[in-house]
Amino acid sequence: MKINLHTHTFRCRHATGTSEEYIKRAIENGIEVLGFSEHAPFLFPNSHQSLYRLPIEEAEDYFKELNELRQKYKDQIKIHIGFEMEYYPLYFNDMLATAKKLGAEYLILGQHAIYNEYPNGKYTTGQHQSTAEDLTEYVNCIISGIKTGLFTYVCHPDNIIANDDLAHYNNEMTRLCKAAKQYDIPLEINFYGIRDNRKYPDEKFWEIAGKVGAKVCFGFDSHDVASAFDAASIPVAEKLVKKYNLKLVEIPEIVNI
Ligand SMILES: [Zn+2]
Ligand SMILES: [Zn+2]
Repeated sequence: MKINLHTHTFRCRHATGTSEEYIKRAIENGIEVLGFSEHAPFLFPNSHQSLYRLPIEEAEDYFKELNELRQKYKDQIKIHIGFEMEYYPLYFNDMLATAKKLGAEYLILGQHAIYNEYPNGKYTTGQHQSTAEDLTEYVNCIISGIKTGLFTYVCHPDNIIANDDLAHYNNEMTRLCKAAKQYDIPLEINFYGIRDNRKYPDEKFWEIAGKVGAKVCFGFDSHDVASAFDAASIPVAEKLVKKYNLKLVEIPEIVNI
């Protein structure tokens, strides 16, 4: 792997190590393009902030630090600075404006919640099965995000947990994969899911992606220094690509916002 556009920092409070350590680890392992994609900061109504995001107060420091590191290592690696962000119908324009104002170069679409997250949202990255209604809403959000043309790729599209209605799951995920294909946006096989033994990558999903012929890409989703180059997960992801005849894009094209 030569490019990884999915990297967090200690600033989201659930990742460890310094950004410089991540960069060194990536360089040592032959990564040529490294994208930092911290959870997008956002001030919801009532000054609410989600606990897993880059705090808005630290957003400037995030860019300042990474810009300095970009300069320091410019002869060894190309660094991009962006965000992982959801598509929430109610807040998308404001979230996008915030990201642009802060100086984000690119966005990856990681849908971690539905129903606009706050005040009455529901997290989809969990242990609980989704209802049919939740799954439809999740797919609607991702498709709306895809249609903006502003996202470089879709992170862990398979992180929502299916319920027993597999026909509904198949229909909805086919809809998602067809939209990704139509708008030519890759779907990410997420390495955090592999190394952390999560419910994703979900083979049910990748079977559908293979049938539809959507493009796929790899993302380390680094949350610690070791996973700034997650060597052990590469063969697992490659096996999925082979098994479901997935169209792997080795170098995803960055969409500048
Ligand atoms: Zn994510
Ligand atoms: Zn992530």
